[in-house]
Amino acid sequence: MSKKVALNTLGCKMNQYESDSLASDFINAGYEIVSFDEEADVYVINTCTVTNKSDRKSRNSINKARKSNNSVVVVTGCYVDSAKHKLENETGITFLIENQKKNQIFQLVDAYFNGEILHDNNQDVFDFHTTDKGLRTRATIKIQDGCDSFCSYCIIPYVRGAGVSRPLNDILDSIRSHLENGFKEIVLTGINMSCYNHNGVDFKDLIGHILNIDGDWRLRISSLEPDMMDENIVDLFSHPRMTPHLHLCLQSGSETILKDMKRTYSFTQYSNIVKKIRERIPHFNITTDLIVGFPGETEELFQESIDACKQIGFGHIHTFKYSKREGTQAAKFTNQIDEKLKNQRSEVVRILSEQLKFDYRKSLIGTKQRVLIEKSSNNKYSGFGDYYVPVKFNGLNLNKNDFVDVLITGIEKGEDPFLIGEVIEG
Ligand code: SF4
Repeated sequence: MSKKVALNTLGCKMNQYESDSLASDFINAGYEIVSFDEEADVYVINTCTVTNKSDRKSRNSINKARKSNNSVVVVTGCYVDSAKHKLENETGITFLIENQKKNQIFQLVDAYFNGEILHDNNQDVFDFHTTDKGLRTRATIKIQDGCDSFCSYCIIPYVRGAGVSRPLNDILDSIRSHLENGFKEIVLTGINMSCYNHNGVDFKDLIGHILNIDGDWRLRISSLEPDMMDENIVDLFSHPRMTPHLHLCLQSGSETILKDMKRTYSFTQYSNIVKKIRERIPHFNITTDLIVGFPGETEELFQESIDACKQIGFGHIHTFKYSKREGTQAAKFTNQIDEKLKNQRSEVVRILSEQLKFDYRKSLIGTKQRVLIEKSSNNKYSGFGDYYVPVKFNGLNLNKNDFVDVLITGIEKGEDPFLIGEVIEG
């Protein structure tokens, strides 16, 4: 009987990508992937440490796995890099694997079951294999790791290390291999992709090379930092293979707070970028991260963030309550904000985000979109359109992973409002 592997992935898209690649390694070797709630021979927890909440969730997941009977427990990810000494003294963890060595988990576990001991010394942070097609409709490709920016609130540069960029040819080969595997949407990921630079090939050059790869497929750039956005990058979005969606991290709409956060752009610069993008592509979907309750955030400065969000008209706001991370500059700031107030502000932004999301999606009624089908049942289909908004429609004899042209005719209310559409014949 095949051995069962359960993975729990916390945090960002990078962790998800790395877990998918790891799951694919296990599948290819005949292991079975099961849900984290089921009994398994191997539990892998890919942790996150970006906030106190992420630490708590990582800990809970580790504790749950440690209670299992005789299972192999692998703990990896950013929480390992930030709390290694604590974790090293705990029982029930078979392997504690730092981010740098994450790509060796499959070999270590497989060798363990064969009674061998491997030394985990491969430190290539890009040595991840092609994702199995059964796991996702979109293939995520890692192009970069680490960050040199040291924003005052962020622990990531301390746990992921300095920025490193993956060689151009490795990226192109990986994309070609995923396309040959049948994927039709490629998503790029990294910790701070805007600072990609490998042997003089910068982010814009890289995208230019990627877009030259032939075939019926599309490219999604997940998340970028505003400071590196210039006309050249904005121009890239006019390419037919580029999808009109970008997660552009704002973090605060207050110039004062942005400075204290050591972000290297102003809100004025941010809104000018959005203006330029939407001059070219009017319905362009901008989503963002926003931190509430950063030290020194008065009611007035919080209101500046609210006004900024309304002005931009975000398609979604991912809100974080500021979390004091030991070792960062902002942890030493004396004007910390009360937790109750952070909760209140977080709720205000959540409600605003729902409203803005609904308004944005409603504005897409009447547009024509190319939907990549993710689910089908009894001639009812759903998938994501160009703008990264979910669309439902009826049709005949269509298949998962087909592109279909759909006219958007309505919207269905709910926590994640779906667009409703009709297939455009011919
Ligand atoms: S750009 Fe700033 S927020 Fe983003 S990972 Fe780097 S230090 Fe953290």
